[in-house]
Amino acid sequence: FFFQAEDGIRDSSVTGVQTVLFRSACPMPIRNYPHVLMAHGGGGRLMQQLIDSMFLSAFSHPALHARTDAAMLDSMTGRLAMTTDSYVVRPLFFPGGDIGTLAVNGTINDLAMCGARPRYLSCGFIIEEGFPMETLWRVVRSMANALAEAGVAIVTGDTKVVDRGKGDGVYINTTGVGEVAEGLLLAPSQIRPGDRILLSGDLGRHGMAIMAQREGLAFETSIESDCASLVDLVFTLVDAGIQLRCMRDLTRGGLAAALVEIAEASRCRLQISEAILPVHEQVRAACELLGLEPMHVANEGRFAAIVAPEDAERALQLMRDHALGRAATLIGEVVSHGRGEVAMVSRIGVTRIVEPPSGEQLPRIC
Ligand code: MG
Repeated sequence: FFFQAEDGIRDSSVTGVQTVLFRSACPMPIRNYPHVLMAHGGGGRLMQQLIDSMFLSAFSHPALHARTDAAMLDSMTGRLAMTTDSYVVRPLFFPGGDIGTLAVNGTINDLAMCGARPRYLSCGFIIEEGFPMETLWRVVRSMANALAEAGVAIVTGDTKVVDRGKGDGVYINTTGVGEVAEGLLLAPSQIRPGDRILLSGDLGRHGMAIMAQREGLAFETSIESDCASLVDLVFTLVDAGIQLRCMRDLTRGGLAAALVEIAEASRCRLQISEAILPVHEQVRAACELLGLEPMHVANEGRFAAIVAPEDAERALQLMRDHALGRAATLIGEVVSHGRGEVAMVSRIGVTRIVEPPSGEQLPRIC
């Protein structure tokens, strides 16, 4: 472990202090070691220096200095939600984000989808020997900013260094724990015929921003990833008392995978309308070039919400009033119980069954 904490949220100033972008230069002692060495993961003096000057300064929180073997946290009331994810995105930096923003937002968004307010994160770094310290600092800084924006603290972590050529720069794993809002149960089992399906914004930006960065796919585009924390938008809905049934963020596999999963788990037939799906012109063009469907492409700041019909209009308005939900759209509804499938009415009025993407068409996207 490179740092531990007694209580990750005891001092809420961690969010206040860093709300505006955390941009300090790479901490001084690191200058003596411009690249990560095996010893930075070895448990000795160099590792301690990396922890002190880099991780503790970026994830600054009084409780981190407790240095116990495990984070000891105040118990939370109600049910806990817990999730984990590993981030292996390539390239590490892309328009609209990087592996650091992704590692924080990706995990807290999964908590938010369960109606859980994210509280604590753990963070494991697997770093390749020779990785530039300055680049590691950029990633850590991005994480600090994403944490500050979402009001979440990293309370424990781990750092490992693997031999040169045996990693790919850096991989990050984060685990998140959140507190489920009282009385809320968001799950496929909660949906019923008549419920409306809302989409929080346009599709495919993250996947296409990454693809545009990759070698050999040098199409001209200004597409930025939609990577963002959905916590605030989700809790705008929760706090307004919207009758939410189920939510899912549209990461790998995109909207198609998310809806098919919900349909199969609930054994409900969902019906959506293709013409309504918001897709940016450049994303659409890039998808056509690559032979992809926008509804199969990954997003990192979009979600689908299934809500009670009487609350759909109000939910939509709340979403549109929020910076991350301006393009929110009602895309369809739950039509019947029995067959777990997603039907899509095409632009020319033909209904077809939506299939999830067959394989890993866009590897290393998150
Ligand atoms: Mg998810």
